[in-house]
Amino acid sequence: MTWRHVAASDVGRVREQNEDAFVADGEAGAFVVADGMGGHAAGEVASEMAVRVIPDTLRSLPMRSTVAEVRQRLSEAVGSANRAIFEDGLENADRTGMGTTVTALVLLPGGSYVIGQVGDSRAYLLRDGMLRQLTEDHTYVQQLVNRGRLTSEQARLHPRSSLLTRALGTDHSVALDLYDGEARAGDRFLLASDGLTGMLTDQELAEIMRQRGSLDELAARLIEAANSAGGNDNITVVLVDVVEAAEEAD
Ligand code: MG
Repeated sequence: MTWRHVAASDVGRVREQNEDAFVADGEAGAFVVADGMGGHAAGEVASEMAVRVIPDTLRSLPMRSTVAEVRQRLSEAVGSANRAIFEDGLENADRTGMGTTVTALVLLPGGSYVIGQVGDSRAYLLRDGMLRQLTEDHTYVQQLVNRGRLTSEQARLHPRSSLLTRALGTDHSVALDLYDGEARAGDRFLLASDGLTGMLTDQELAEIMRQRGSLDELAARLIEAANSAGGNDNITVVLVDVVEAAEEAD
């Protein structure tokens, strides 16, 4: 199993700076989206640190790692990034309290995937035309959805929708949610910041992700649709297509 990917980020139509960050390392099979927060551009520092530190730790993974080993290594990587951001915030008064979301996808050549999640960036999987959200947001509105007090759509449109219950770098340790599963040829993964998923319904995301066109074109259409819907926040999109090894060679 191998994969193709594209990654793109846009400032949106309201914000002056882009505090999202991403890394897409096809060779290592490691893809990360981070959405930073904190005043005076500190959010940008936090998200940049996350996308630098996490792949550094993953790059040294042995070729034939098991899912258990990848889960362990991803936990260590996110822990390292958390400490680095937290300590930087302590040492620099203008960055105290900065933090970031992180959604990290690791694909294994054997056909498995592992996802690490903190915050409200998201991972989705389009399989057989059906879009499924793989991660759960760490937000107050999500807690209300889980208790049946809000619908997902009410949560998406809520004025405090992006208030996080968990973030990377805001405390000395952080709890990471880990997910794993089997990937197969034809699968299309999406990692995105809330500048995309807050502006578009899952239905709208699915309609674009099912379209024909190159991954570049699809990423551009997703960003364009989020901007057309208001572009209230920075928009980051990573698309990864899983393909048979022979298909990639053509
Ligand atoms: Mg955001």
